[in-house]
Amino acid sequence: MLRVHEIFYSIQGESTFAGVPCVFVRLTGCNLRCRWCDTTYAFTQGQCMTLDDIEKQVDSYQCKTVEITGGEPMCQRQEAVLLMARLLAKGYTVLLETNGSLPLEDVPHGVHRIIDLKPPKSGQPHDVALWKTYAEHWRDTDQIKCVVCDRADFDWCIEKLNHYGAIGRIPVLFSPVWGECDPQALVAWICDAHAPIRLNFQIHKIIWDPDTRGV
Ligand code: SF4
Repeated sequence: MLRVHEIFYSIQGESTFAGVPCVFVRLTGCNLRCRWCDTTYAFTQGQCMTLDDIEKQVDSYQCKTVEITGGEPMCQRQEAVLLMARLLAKGYTVLLETNGSLPLEDVPHGVHRIIDLKPPKSGQPHDVALWKTYAEHWRDTDQIKCVVCDRADFDWCIEKLNHYGAIGRIPVLFSPVWGECDPQALVAWICDAHAPIRLNFQIHKIIWDPDTRGV
C-alpha cells in the first residue's frame, strides 16, 4: 500500500522531459521543509491505495510516461520502488522526482531519477555523505535539478556539481525560485558559467495560476 495524495494527467514541467504528456502519482509526506516549497499540501492527507489500484488509475490515462513525485516519494521507499518496477515492466517511461536527501540505490535501473540539489537558501542541509554515494554511481538516466534564489545559491550549486562530477556527466538544470529569482539574472549566470547546464522553468506556473493544483 502507498499513501497517495493525488494522481493526475498533465504535462511534465521540470526536467529534460518538460512539455511531455505525463501521468503524475503524487505520494504523501516529505522529510524536508524547503523555504519555498509549493507542495506543502502533500505533507499530509491522501489515501492508502494498493499498487494494483494505482496501476489501474495510471493505465486509465493512456499515456506511457509516468512520474512518481511528492512530497518526497522515497519516504515510502519500499513500496515506491515496487511501484516503479511494476510500471517499468509494463513498458512505461518512469520518472522519479526526489529531493536528494534519501538513499536512491534501490531505485530500479531504467527509472529516470530527477534529483534535487538543495542550495543553502532552501533552508535544508546538504547531506555530503549521501551525495558522495550518488556521485560514485551516476546513471545515464539521472539528471539534477537546482532551484536557486540568488547568485550565491547558483555559485554554491556549480561548485558542488563540479565536486560530484555531475557537470558534463549528466544533465543539470537550473530553475529560478518563483517570484524571488529574476529569470534574466539566472540566464546571465548560466551564460557566465560556460558549462553544459541549462535553464529550466516550472512551466505549469506560467501556463496556469501558480497556486493551481493537479496540473
Ligand atoms: S523536498 Fe519538495 S516537497 Fe519536500 S519540502 Fe522541499 S520542495 Fe517541498
